Amino acid sequence: MSTYTNYIQLEKLGEGTYATVYKGRSRTTNEIVALKEINLDAEEGTPSTAIREISLMKELKHVNIVRLHDVIHTETKLVLIFEFCDSDLKKYMDQHGDRGALDPATVRSFLWQLLKGTNFCHENQVLHRDLKPQNLLINRKGELKLGDFGLARAFGVPVNTFSNEVVTLWYRAPDVLLGSRTYSTSIDVWSCGCIFAEMITGVPLFRGKDTQDQLLHIMRILGTPSEAQLQKMAKDSPEIQLKPFPRCPKMDLKQILPKASPAAIDLLERLLKFDPAERISAADALSHPYFTDTVNDVPFAMNAPPGSMPPPAFNFPHPSRHQPPRASHVQPAMQQQYSMQPPMYPQQGYVQQQPQQSVYYQQQQQYGQR
Ligand code: ADP
Ligand code: MG
Repeated sequence: MSTYTNYIQLEKLGEGTYATVYKGRSRTTNEIVALKEINLDAEEGTPSTAIREISLMKELKHVNIVRLHDVIHTETKLVLIFEFCDSDLKKYMDQHGDRGALDPATVRSFLWQLLKGTNFCHENQVLHRDLKPQNLLINRKGELKLGDFGLARAFGVPVNTFSNEVVTLWYRAPDVLLGSRTYSTSIDVWSCGCIFAEMITGVPLFRGKDTQDQLLHIMRILGTPSEAQLQKMAKDSPEIQLKPFPRCPKMDLKQILPKASPAAIDLLERLLKFDPAERISAADALSHPYFTDTVNDVPFAMNAPPGSMPPPAFNFPHPSRHQPPRASHVQPAMQQQYSMQPPMYPQQGYVQQQPQQSVYYQQQQQYGQR
């Protein structure tokens, strides 16, 4: 355990819902880090969200999940020391995108990494619950990492008391908007779909101003589900309150995303299924043809300004996937974590699976349901 004086605080990187994040430098190693400062309420003590974030993150070691190095707990604040990333996806799109829109090769690399990180969470019984561009960090190597696990929580135990107030509205799944509290991994998959569309167009796909308006925005594009489909969802999740909805026809996603390839549209439709039971899993999404066809394989940002970050070519299955991967430039320790293996070796490169009754389970018991 180090003290806060081990780190020199540099400029502010961002401000979120309950924390301020600064760039920092270790006095001992000179390493550049991110310091996430959470002010502690003198009366309430350490917020349970922070405790949750810490305990989850320490175990989740993956190249597409921001690494938590250290935790410093003082009387007045809690400081989490994270691996430094140069940007988040929102800033990256604003700076490098064409009015926010990213080129097809970058979209594909980022979606691949987003799904890799999400799948790793899901394999380890963790839901992120707040995936959005501001919570995805990008480093200069073009690696995308899931950050901000403030809302993440364990699952895999009875789930009927989940809080309904999760995930920023624009990335929130329709089943959650309808009141479901028994949601699972599909909630993160929906957010991945929203982020995918946003990377292609540069604009958030569904921009509602409240829960009801958000549902309408979704239905105006995906179409209003049939009465039978809605009844089935309500049967699957009894907390769902069905109200009458205007009948909207399904729109052609190709019209909304004219730049997207047919494979991209197909994957997007599977990520954005209204009924969570029909939504593709992160694992299955990773083997979708979108990641293996080479049609939209254009070189990264040919006219990009110097210093802009290329996406790592090794982070999605390479067209020459039947060749054993060459990894001589990657250090052995890191090689473990990289997803360089093509899908035929699915388990390699993952850290060990958590046992069924993991630390998350115990932790959940300890801190109770929220
Ligand atoms: P909050 O829980 O308050 O939303 P976040 O963890 O999302 O906090 O951090 C807020 C912002 O700070 C992010 O959107 C990002 O811009 C920046 N940030 C967070 N972590 C890092 C990091 N490790 N490296 C660089 N910037 C970061
Ligand atoms: Mg955040």
